[in-house]
Amino acid sequence: MGGTQAIKPPLRGDHKADVLIVGAGASGLAAALRLMDSGRKVILLDKNICGGSSTGKSAGFLTPDSELELSQLLRKYGPKGAKDLWEVAARGVDIMVENIKKHNIACDLQVQDCLFLGKGQSGWKDVQDEVEARKKLGYSSSVYNEADVPSVIGSKAYSGAIRYTGTYGVNPLLYAQGIKKVLLDGGIEIFESSEVLSWKERTVRTHLGTVTADKIIFCIDKPKPYITRYYQEVYHAQTFLSISEPLGDSDIAQLFPQGPLQCWDSDLIYTYFRLTGDKRLLVGGGDMMTTYAKNDTTTPRVMDKVLKGIKETIPSLRSLRFIQYWQGRIDMTRDLIPTVLVDPEHPWAHFVLGCVGLPWATFCGNFAARNVIDDKEIDNEKYYQYFSPNRKFLLPVWLERVIGKRIVFTVNNAWAKYRQKDVSQGQA
Ligand SMILES: Cc1cc2nc3c(=O)[nH]c(=O)nc-3n(C[C@H](O)[C@H](O)[C@H](O)COP(=O)(O)OP(=O)(O)OC[C@H]3O[C@@H](n4cnc5c(N)ncnc54)[C@H](O)[C@@H]3O)c2cc1C
Repeated sequence: MGGTQAIKPPLRGDHKADVLIVGAGASGLAAALRLMDSGRKVILLDKNICGGSSTGKSAGFLTPDSELELSQLLRKYGPKGAKDLWEVAARGVDIMVENIKKHNIACDLQVQDCLFLGKGQSGWKDVQDEVEARKKLGYSSSVYNEADVPSVIGSKAYSGAIRYTGTYGVNPLLYAQGIKKVLLDGGIEIFESSEVLSWKERTVRTHLGTVTADKIIFCIDKPKPYITRYYQEVYHAQTFLSISEPLGDSDIAQLFPQGPLQCWDSDLIYTYFRLTGDKRLLVGGGDMMTTYAKNDTTTPRVMDKVLKGIKETIPSLRSLRFIQYWQGRIDMTRDLIPTVLVDPEHPWAHFVLGCVGLPWATFCGNFAARNVIDDKEIDNEKYYQYFSPNRKFLLPVWLERVIGKRIVFTVNNAWAKYRQKDVSQGQA
């Protein structure tokens, strides 16, 4: 099964459901899939198409590693917390891959090991920190020093690298569209081009219709104040992607002497790249000026700079032509961990917000759906604590009114990545 599906028409008229899911990115799709065989009537709405926002635009790295490396989770949460959260993302990877295989979704699934590449002395230290963290938590990996790096990547510019398995590449729009087909076949009603403009009690309103549901799961991005007071939980980081013409087999062998890998480097605004099934190179990155920009940046300038940088670092790419670029703003919270909650004032309304990464979004959508159907197997309390909107951040929310959301998020994100320690770590 593959390809994009016909766009579903917008919601019209008044509908009833047991569960309404708003937002059909990785999180909303995972929630819908979890509910599919539960015997409940489920409606899924999206203002765009399924996977039409960050999910479909993404580079399709399926790895537990997202904005927080394992060593950063370890410092921040201690061994137990780091393991809990790494397993969240690893479970998200597994759910996606299980779905792809079970439903035979043609979305260019590639088994692709991760390669985290150090740049300079500090990058080599980052690599070693990652190796140590993985050892401490019982995860295997291979490490390459500066002299060994060219055996896995065609460049002499990196100071070291760590490689690990259990990760994949995927075409995320085809994944989303494939899941859409599975959901439709499974009896879920899907309405696209259907933006929720308001909701009151158990009824949501779009421009042409309403849905009244016993439970509602909001899996939306860029939440607006008129949809939820939790809109404050979320800001975004902008990243850019470009795709090349197909590489020849000898170019691929030069670039990846031991076979294709998914790679990113240790720079603060890192460059990332991987090979697709049709032998094209996807390259992503950004710059300091535009990462936290309030609105979309459409200039080619940023991507040009990223491509110039990678061509200098990997000489065999110098003549490779890149044919298209795009950008997206990834929703995130102040500490780069998702916020998942049941609204205390409207206990039928669940929110999944600020998931950085397809695996995190998948786990969190699945988790919210399991809670809707009171799946007792899961350790609700544990995850609701990690994902609580009441967790502590370095700079408090009220400061956003004084110095602005963008600055507060930038500082809080850097704190979470490089300094923060969970106060409860000693008990972990
Ligand atoms: C360029 C780029 C590259 C990336 N690369 C990777 C990568 O390689 N690997 C990785 O794991 N992650 C990557 N990410 C991040 C990843 O895409 C996101 O973290 C993930 O897709 C979030 O999924 P989501 O379901 O939470 O949100 P989204 O995919 O944003 O879905 C939210 C949905 O809600 C809908 N919506 C919003 N408001 C409303 C409303 N009022 N009514 C109805 N619908 C609404 C939107 O249309 C959207 O479809 C990348 C992101 C970008 C932009």
